[in-house]
Amino acid sequence: MTTVPTDLLVAGQPVETADRFEVVDPATLEVIAEVADAGPRDAAAAVETAGSAFASWAATSPRQRSLILSEAHRLMLDEAEHGARLIVRENGKAWSDAYGEIVYAAEFFRWFAEETVRVRGDFRSAPAGDKTIIVDHRPVGIAYLVTPWNFPAAMATRKLAPALAAGCPCVLKPAAETPLTALWIGDVLRRAGVPDGVVSVLPTTDPARLTTAILADPRVTALSFTGSTGVGTALLAAAAPRVLRTSMELGGNAPFLVLEGTDVEEAVEVAMVAKMRNGGSACTAANRFYVHASLAGPFARAFTEALGRLRIGPGLDTSHDVGAMVSAAERDKVRELVERGAAEGGSVTVAGSAPESGTFLAPHVVTGVEHGGTLTRTEIFGPVAPIVSFEDLDDAVAMANDVPVGLLSYVLAGDPGTGLRVARRLESGMVAVNRGVVSDPAAPFGGVKESGLGREGGFEGIHEFLESRYIAADL
Ligand code: NAD
Repeated sequence: MTTVPTDLLVAGQPVETADRFEVVDPATLEVIAEVADAGPRDAAAAVETAGSAFASWAATSPRQRSLILSEAHRLMLDEAEHGARLIVRENGKAWSDAYGEIVYAAEFFRWFAEETVRVRGDFRSAPAGDKTIIVDHRPVGIAYLVTPWNFPAAMATRKLAPALAAGCPCVLKPAAETPLTALWIGDVLRRAGVPDGVVSVLPTTDPARLTTAILADPRVTALSFTGSTGVGTALLAAAAPRVLRTSMELGGNAPFLVLEGTDVEEAVEVAMVAKMRNGGSACTAANRFYVHASLAGPFARAFTEALGRLRIGPGLDTSHDVGAMVSAAERDKVRELVERGAAEGGSVTVAGSAPESGTFLAPHVVTGVEHGGTLTRTEIFGPVAPIVSFEDLDDAVAMANDVPVGLLSYVLAGDPGTGLRVARRLESGMVAVNRGVVSDPAAPFGGVKESGLGREGGFEGIHEFLESRYIAADL
């Protein structure tokens, strides 16, 4: 059985700190670990060791990096139960969500193991015939990676895998709610053969102070962040003075459109996944439902019934479909949003019931919601489904696009051709047509508008950590 690292990981070694902080299981409110709390001095040590490791890691052959990433994939899957347990305990989510996340997270190591040996350059004559244009790629340098608590494994590997594949050393800063999964992944990479210093993991309770120290260090050249739009825009501003390469995976507010002629049962089946994967705490979660007036009543009834059948309780009990929310603060934020939705005229139905102890929350369906109200403007990040009814498809598309963010949209259409045509009109980086999940390491994940910059996964993901170098040659 693998032990659970709780010290920082710097230069391939566990590093203790004077201060430590508690990690709480939100299902039981039990303290499950005390983790080292990194400060600016640890940041400097991590950057120093990354700087020393950079040249040799960048010079490692792509094949060698590929083999190490493949080994990390294998180890993660071998230890999947252990990883899932860590996620359940520190994040609160259901076992099936946690186990599924480990498999998804490990897949980033496999995908980028395959990508690192396939980075292509360019060699061609200039149109004027006066020179040869040669383009190759090199690693951007030390990458600072900041991840949220909602997918503690997948958000880390979605950054670590392409950065390492590109030849960049990394400093990973996980969310304070979920440091254990990140420390375990750091340890997996160490055991897979990543040289000392190439990956550091720095949990902290003071992310602003740690980040300020890291971004000010001239050796750090890239910032890859996943989290809220508010923190992301602040970090973009902090990255501006040194013109850092930035990748930003920020907040969502996904519309879920159910078009006229859609089968209600199928729409509900898809909605259950789109809304309830990860208990609703996903940037991709369906946040607001726009349902054609001819289906709005039956959809709301069937959806509420299906939500009411979910079994809610501690994730270590595999019979539960939905676990706890990550913290009381997150649960209370969601409850408050429901109250505001009700005060604005929404009619609230609680579907099923949740345990009283721990930070559980039963799903809520809110009907009679007007577009433009709190529940359609705010990323809810919990098990709440506001339903807006529409008559005209153009109005539905306009409402779907009427928010400052654009990560993912869902379209449910009886006719897939109509679904595709509507998909092309939606202002989001990703669209799901007649399905509830889009995430795939082989596809480019990312948003438009205030949902972010850049793409993770797919063929694009490795290029977030590479820069193109153009050489003009007389040959
Ligand atoms: P958050 O923005 O509060 O925190 C994200 C990370 O930033 C954490 O590691 C946190 O410690 C750190 N952080 C917070 N304040 C900071 C500061 N001042 N300086 C530096 N770092 C700071 O987000 P969260 O609550 O952990 O996660 C939820 C948000 O993440 C949602 O908005 C969700 O949509 C978004 N998210 C986006 C994606 C995506 O791929 N687009 C994926 C998952 C989550």
